[in-house]
Amino acid sequence: ETTLVWIRRDLRLSDHAALSAAVKRGGPVIPVFIRDDAVDGLGAAPKWRLGLGLESFAEALEGVGSRLVLRSGDARAVIPALVEETGATAVYWQRAYDPDAVERDSDVKAALKKAGIEAESFTGHLMFEPWTVETKQGAFYKVYTPFWKAVRDRSVDKPLSAPSSVPAPETWPDSDTLEDWALDAEMDRGAQIVRPFVQLGEAAAQSRLGAFMASKVAEYDTTRDIPGVDGTSNLSENLSLGEISPAQCWHAGQRALDEGKAGAETFLKELVWREFAYHLMWHTPRILSDNWREEWEAFPWNEDERKAEVKAWKQGRTGIRFVDAAMREMYVTGRMHNRGRMIVASYLTKHLMCHWKIGLEWFKDCLIDWDPASNAMGWQWSAGSGPDATPYFRVFNPVTQLDKFDKDRDYVSRWIAEEYENPHEDALAYFDAIPKSWNMSPEDAYPEPIVAPDEGRKRALSAYEDRDF
Ligand code: FAD
Repeated sequence: ETTLVWIRRDLRLSDHAALSAAVKRGGPVIPVFIRDDAVDGLGAAPKWRLGLGLESFAEALEGVGSRLVLRSGDARAVIPALVEETGATAVYWQRAYDPDAVERDSDVKAALKKAGIEAESFTGHLMFEPWTVETKQGAFYKVYTPFWKAVRDRSVDKPLSAPSSVPAPETWPDSDTLEDWALDAEMDRGAQIVRPFVQLGEAAAQSRLGAFMASKVAEYDTTRDIPGVDGTSNLSENLSLGEISPAQCWHAGQRALDEGKAGAETFLKELVWREFAYHLMWHTPRILSDNWREEWEAFPWNEDERKAEVKAWKQGRTGIRFVDAAMREMYVTGRMHNRGRMIVASYLTKHLMCHWKIGLEWFKDCLIDWDPASNAMGWQWSAGSGPDATPYFRVFNPVTQLDKFDKDRDYVSRWIAEEYENPHEDALAYFDAIPKSWNMSPEDAYPEPIVAPDEGRKRALSAYEDRDF
């Protein structure tokens, strides 16, 4: 009785409901990952990070006597073919929530059932699945705080432990190789520079969580907002590929809360922001591609990617230090501090009046923690076009924000080399990572602001007022 376990964004052995159920079923287990259009459509950095994640997960599987089979194509064809080839009688996987995956998975499930194959999906990528949280009127939540109140006292199943061994089939089906897939092919931003910032795999994710709970969570309330301090868990990179489960983070957060560690509740709330993003994406998938508030269609966004201002924003040379530092941080590390994300997003959409989709796409290309739901919610929240968004009149002032959140300039001096006699090594790494065609050097003079902060703010506000929002 062979079981296929269809691996997706869940590159872990522990708290893996589908894998555990397959092991419990008793027969041989064949884990398979499929390179489909969704994988091919990933941005350069998340695709590269996925390749590393798969390599590490395949090794972890080998440690428990198993393997990761790699196949390419549409899962609607690949899964039934593999079932036939291996004689599997069941296929298990953990649910995904973006519209394309939902459609694909329900097609696969229907076809398998029709063929008399057991097909079961499990929860794992989320704690509170979108259809399980509803308002008293039976609707979905559009505002975060009531969503938080609705879920905060729910019990979350205790994480499952990793199977100590996974029964192998007598013969393994053929597998593609990661070398064939070349998931790093588009990563032309100096992958060797980004690599040291990566914390890869399940064991690393667990130690990240442990270190956060041991030392950072107590101060998290205050340090989480200071980009010059490493005060957050950095777990988004691992959560994105499921190298750790949200339930594992939640239980660790609950323990810290019981131990009276200040900051633990705020951490739990952040995990629930992630759940909220999925809730919104599930109930209103258009959040991924269209203004969530339709009246924003009338806003005079610039949608021209080639505009000089867009280029300056992407390249971290707007002349606004907080913005440039954050954009360079993302280019070098594949990640950006949350305060930075809010500031660069506000700056692009308000000061520069550029469409949030331009920013969303650039983040999608650069972030190793890219997540479709959190990225879309973050951009629409910042632009003002999303549910529970910042009101249009809240335009972050990137200059006063610097005095508030980077008083000693620890952050900007780490990421901006110009103007410093002995630049920080990370600031210099940026110049090694970028393409030559950007024509930037640490010896250049730091640019003047492309748009003066006050002028940009006034321009955005008057565009809103003209449209009578
Ligand atoms: P911590 O502060 O340690 O928080 C713990 C976890 O809670 C995070 O790992 C994350 O899973 C979740 N979380 C925290 N803040 C948020 C939030 N605002 N929204 C949703 N979940 C949150 N996060 C991504 O994971 N991927 C993205 O592609 C992404 N794009 C964003 C784009 C914009 C414009 C904005 C404003 C935010 C975006 N975020 C995204 C949310 C947030 O910035 C990151 O989750 C956070 O910076 C990750 O750092 P951390 O793991 O140290 O977080």
